[in-house]
Amino acid sequence: MIITNANIITWERPNRIIYGQALVFTGSVIKEIGPQSTIIADYPNEEVLDANGQWLMPGLICAHTHFYGTFSRGLYIPAPAPADFPEILKKLWWPLDQSLLAEDVKYSSLLCMIDAIKHGTTTLFDHHASPNFISGSLDVIEDAFLETGIRGVVCYEVTDRGGKEKAEEGIQENLRMIKKLNHSDSEHLVKATFGMHASLTLSEETLERSRELLPSASGIHIHAAEHWVDEYDSINKSGMRVIERLNKHHFLGDKSIFVHGVHLDHSEIAQLIQTKTWLSHQPRSNLNNAVGLGDIDSQIRAGLRVCLGNDGFSNAMWDEWRTCYLAHKGWNRDPRRMGANTIVDMAVYNNSDLATQFFDGTRIGRIEPGAKADLVLVDFDPITELSVDNLPWQIIFGFRDSMVTTTIVNGKVLMKDRKLTTLDEKEVNIKARALSKNVWQRYAKQF
Ligand SMILES: [Zn+2]
Repeated sequence: MIITNANIITWERPNRIIYGQALVFTGSVIKEIGPQSTIIADYPNEEVLDANGQWLMPGLICAHTHFYGTFSRGLYIPAPAPADFPEILKKLWWPLDQSLLAEDVKYSSLLCMIDAIKHGTTTLFDHHASPNFISGSLDVIEDAFLETGIRGVVCYEVTDRGGKEKAEEGIQENLRMIKKLNHSDSEHLVKATFGMHASLTLSEETLERSRELLPSASGIHIHAAEHWVDEYDSINKSGMRVIERLNKHHFLGDKSIFVHGVHLDHSEIAQLIQTKTWLSHQPRSNLNNAVGLGDIDSQIRAGLRVCLGNDGFSNAMWDEWRTCYLAHKGWNRDPRRMGANTIVDMAVYNNSDLATQFFDGTRIGRIEPGAKADLVLVDFDPITELSVDNLPWQIIFGFRDSMVTTTIVNGKVLMKDRKLTTLDEKEVNIKARALSKNVWQRYAKQF
């Protein structure tokens, strides 16, 4: 396919905006950017998509999300309202994830993926939990990825919350999917990693067992130090802080994604930096759970590789950018904190490096020859002059996720002129609403 009449934002380092040229991709890969007439002459058989002056850019990437939480929207949590994050886990997320069966996992995933396509998010790292449907749950999510056509990485949250047998079932589900997906061909849209819930729900025994079985090429995806309770629990169990404890079990490294890290101390941050472990930041979730905010911009300056995720909030990633921009200023009472360029470092460059690493080194999240054709068109008419230098601020203050009109993943058009091509959204919503009622009933019975 040839895309003509687009202003191309490449997100190379340094970034470029290319005007008056066309982009061509064949199969799943970007081939060339060049003068429109030359490209059309050189690729006479390719379909032409006229962008009509829109911005063409790489699809957005989400480094941490939970499809399973979708049916929480509108859910009635019995009074009194949870007073802190541990109570939120006990009153909302744990009774909810225990209410999910196979169909619920499928439709929770489909709803999120439709939301992602509509908002230009083309790669998602999911962290799944459904304690009453563990074995086979990741196949259901993989199938949803294949049905919608977007790209993602799956894992199951291993935990001791439900006893030894369920912890083992979670371990086996991760291992099975790593074996199934991480040897598949580079065109396959789904990869797997090894999920763990959080230090506070993991025994020494389960950590040891997981380490013993985890293939050396894999890392883990785990919540870490989201709330101070995680740190205190770890000190009680092991005499060590969370990162030290997980480091002792050799879970740190450049394949591992640690999530939140709000309550890390200097030593823990240094260990993450030394081992090149990824940290994923979710400011909307941190604010919603009232767990505080990590000192993210100074951690980035110190060399920590911080990505941006949404932790199950909407897949409108520019909303996450905006919250990030505002939250750190307010939290620190300093308007110089968290510049838009720092958000680009996380959400564009680090997320791109993370996704590229998980998909066998083929570049994802950048427009250049050889990169994956994961692309979005944005119908944005700037009211002031837009330049490479002010683009991060133009996005924060001007871009709206509803301006995404076309989404392409792996060279396949998933939405064109705001119409989904792979799914009937209305039908999915009807089915999901019916399922959500039953999920809510199973949830309510636990109180
Ligand atoms: Zn999470």
